[in-house]
Amino acid sequence: MAIDPIPTACTIAGSDSSAGAGIQADLKVFSAYGVYGLTVITATTAQNTRRVAGSWIQSGDSVAAQITTLCEEFTIGAWKTGMLGNPEVIDAVIDSLPDGASLILDPVIVSTSGHRLLSADALTLLIDGLIPLATVVTPNIPEAEMITGITPILTPEDVREAAAVIRSLGADAVIIKGGHGTDTEATDILLDSEGEVALSSPRYPYEVHGSGCSFASAIAAEIALGADLRSAFPDAKRFIDGAIRHAIRFDSGGAVPDPFW
Ligand code: PLP
Repeated sequence: MAIDPIPTACTIAGSDSSAGAGIQADLKVFSAYGVYGLTVITATTAQNTRRVAGSWIQSGDSVAAQITTLCEEFTIGAWKTGMLGNPEVIDAVIDSLPDGASLILDPVIVSTSGHRLLSADALTLLIDGLIPLATVVTPNIPEAEMITGITPILTPEDVREAAAVIRSLGADAVIIKGGHGTDTEATDILLDSEGEVALSSPRYPYEVHGSGCSFASAIAAEIALGADLRSAFPDAKRFIDGAIRHAIRFDSGGAVPDPFW
């Protein structure tokens, strides 16, 4: 069998016109890692770093056709999902993903600016149908609250409890991202079958649009390169800490990660 010349990862996500999050962030991260990035576009959004003005979701048929056409040709080492939008798109992903796919599921529900990116009925399907297929689920704290119903998540014990609930939904592993917490450091907690790992990094005095997407795509790139999750987690944490530390900061006050730092 022919071997592709470069590791390949595929992102199934929405377009962010400001290119800090979504498909554009994922492609930049994949490139920074030397991974060939494939894209399945689920939606277009009109947004800048500070607000989402609107979003338009693709049909399930479009999403399914993009996935199956890629699978005809490429050996895809990791899949990453971001904004999925509605139940039709989630059904298409569930039906089209190849068996045994390594799936990094970033459960994008609401943007940091407060715009809903996943409908309420779609959240139920994501929980019942997609989380059980996931190699790892990477919610931030507000997303972990919405998935588990544990709210508010404030203490490290709350985070651990939420991670255990998400694993019990059928995911192999969970990483709860602490970027939206209130501590002086951003602490992410990984829970897998072997137990827990917590990693902290400094919190910087500016908000970086797209850092959650970029962290999840760094995990996907690591997995595509052959790492296991236990080694991908600290490497991706170092990578995203650098990308936030060196964030591109615009005159508006908005900022996006720089994955090429
Ligand atoms: N827009 C799209 C298309 C996304 O995929 C995401 C990812 O989370 C966001 C916006 C949200 O970005 P943030 O919450 O970092 O502003």
